Parts: sequence; C-alpha cells; structure tokens
Amino acid sequence: MFIETKEIGPEGLAVSRSIDGFRLPLSGEEAIRIDRVQLNGELRKENDGVAFAGRIETRATLACSRCLEEYILPLDLPFDLFYTTGPDTPPGGERRLDGEMVTRVHMEGSRIDLRPLLSEQVYLGLPLKPLCRPDCLGLCPRCGTYLNTDACTCAEERTEDPRLRILKSLL
Ligand SMILES: [Zn+2]
Ligand SMILES: [Zn+2]
Repeated sequence: MFIETKEIGPEGLAVSRSIDGFRLPLSGEEAIRIDRVQLNGELRKENDGVAFAGRIETRATLACSRCLEEYILPLDLPFDLFYTTGPDTPPGGERRLDGEMVTRVHMEGSRIDLRPLLSEQVYLGLPLKPLCRPDCLGLCPRCGTYLNTDACTCAEERTEDPRLRILKSLL
C-alpha cells in the first residue's frame, strides 16, 4: 500500500484507492473495526517534499461509552500532510506560508506508506467519548437496565423523600 513519488508528474498526481478494512488497536486489548476505506487525494511535488491532501471515507464500529452497545459511525476525514525526507522534521504541525496548518510527516526513501497514514488519520477522527446517539440514556448504574428502551424503578427509589418513607411507616 504505497504511492511511489516518482509517479507524481509536474501537474501532480490524483489518487483514488479502495483499501481493505482493518482493526485499529487502542490502548490495551481493545481494537476498533474499520470498514473498507475509500481514499481520494492529490499529491504535489514541492522543493523539499511532497504535499498530500485529500480525504478518507470509511465507517468505524465503536462501543457507546454510556450504554456499551456497538454502533457504526461514518467517518469523512479530510487530511493535509507534507511528506519530507529532511532530517529536521519538527514534531507535530507546522504553519505554511499562507498560514494554514499542515502536518509534516517523515518519509522513508521515495514512497509514501498509506497504512500509517490511514491509522493515524482515523485515530485522530474518532470521538473521545463515543455515543450511539447524542441523547443516549445509558445503563442504570444500579441494575444495569438498558434505559434507552427499558425502564427500571431504581431512580424512583432514589428520589423518594426519606421523610415520606418515615411517614409511610407510621401509617
Ligand atoms: Zn449508547
Ligand atoms: Zn435500575
């Protein structure tokens, strides 16, 4: 899964690749399932490297952080990278002359490896707190009931006024 930089002509090179799905490892044992990826972009040769801008479209299977149910999140991730073989690559991003942020990436030899590009961009595009829907009610912390479709009585018991309970016991 490489792009050879010698294929980039004076007018640049447009790429459109369909790439097999993969598992994106997270911390620990966890991994996220990523569907087949559509990558579209354009490469341009510049003085000290190769500019590569485009977008990645795929779908990730995530576990909701509230109810733990799996759900599918469509991803449409634009990227703007600058590949350089130079040794003086500063960590993180760098500002271009026109003020736009561009991420510098070190390139080995004369080809661009798409695999780390995909993993990194997808990873950056994932939500910190995945939610199956914005108003997900999650699970009852006491009995584990799935509150999006079911109800339990834990909340009622909790909100009952203790004074009322004493009153009840007197009746
Ligand atoms: Zn949920
Ligand atoms: Zn409950």
